[in-house]
Amino acid sequence: MATFRDLLSQTKARIREVDTAQAEAAIAQPGTVVLDVREPDEYEQGAIPGAIHIPRGHLESQVENKLPNRDAPVVIYCAGGTRSAFAADTLGQLGYADVVSVVGGFNKWKNEGRAWSAPRTLTPEQRNRYQRHLLVNEVGEEGQLKLLDSKVLLLGAGGLGSPAALYLAAAGVGTVGIIDMDVVDESNLQRQILHNLDRIGERKVDSAKKTLTLLNPDVDVVTFDTRLGADNVLDIIDGYDVIVDGTDNFPTRYLVNDASLVKRIPVVHGSIFRFEGQATVFNPYVGPCYRCMIPEPPPAELAPSCAEAGVLGVLPGIIGSIQAMEAIKLILGIGDTLTGRLLAYDALEESFRTFKVNRDPDCPACGPNAGEIVIAEYDELCMPHPKVAPAS
Ligand SMILES: [Zn+2]
Repeated sequence: MATFRDLLSQTKARIREVDTAQAEAAIAQPGTVVLDVREPDEYEQGAIPGAIHIPRGHLESQVENKLPNRDAPVVIYCAGGTRSAFAADTLGQLGYADVVSVVGGFNKWKNEGRAWSAPRTLTPEQRNRYQRHLLVNEVGEEGQLKLLDSKVLLLGAGGLGSPAALYLAAAGVGTVGIIDMDVVDESNLQRQILHNLDRIGERKVDSAKKTLTLLNPDVDVVTFDTRLGADNVLDIIDGYDVIVDGTDNFPTRYLVNDASLVKRIPVVHGSIFRFEGQATVFNPYVGPCYRCMIPEPPPAELAPSCAEAGVLGVLPGIIGSIQAMEAIKLILGIGDTLTGRLLAYDALEESFRTFKVNRDPDCPACGPNAGEIVIAEYDELCMPHPKVAPAS
């Protein structure tokens, strides 16, 4: 039976080892991947900057996701050079072509005064709260930190804004901005699940902030108890990564569209009507904008608002949740978003359909020949404002 010493020497005979100076030179080459295989508590106290962290025990199961390119040079280290030797052997068996293990490991690296830093990590409480995200490779700790650093602005704390805000806050989106100028009314409670009976008569943004803060104290809820208008839209949306649009009127949608093009902030659009809902993503200058899809608003009599036409209360729950999902995908940069696609949901049929939406080359807002965008209040026609008023 082989002893540990035998096993280690056999392993070392199969792999390539480098000293810390050679490792440093290799890491300086573009394309080289640095892999830290120590335990989380060792990694958190300090690591080589830019290192990918996979504890030795998770190496086989996680490495293909985190290091998809088997031809890239990989420099592996642990604390002293033993675990990294076994890890290098494993990677060789998995088909990684150019792998080296650092003799002396991080301890020698650090003692020699080479560059290291304490990586930013989740607190133990956050690790517990977001555990189900950490188990998903596409999110993981890096993605969760991205979410915590991200800012999403919700237009409206109503039917669509309620589920979107709840899921975004629960997911750990670090800053959730909410703009709404209404007060909570009993007739809202059929669908606006941010609010409750105790909040009747309260400002909606205040009610929303209470609910979200109770759900997740990690989240900074920024409230705007005001009407979104041409005078404030650019200031309010400034600095947000994603806008979730839950407004129900055309002038505001066009205003938000034009302002989001100016600021280049993607808008996750949602709308609901009786038993039908729609969602899409307007990604400025990447996909179509709202004006590409709906060049002009329909006549008022053909476009009754939710207040006039009614809506089944679950419907905004579904569409608002889809909006939250799209916002999170945009932040994490994963999957295929609804950019260039309109998702249409029919609750009575229980069916989802997607339709392609193209950029309009003649779009007066985002087309190549569009003039400079001027942010101004829109009337019921919602046409873009010319830069200079035509002479009358
Ligand atoms: Zn457009």
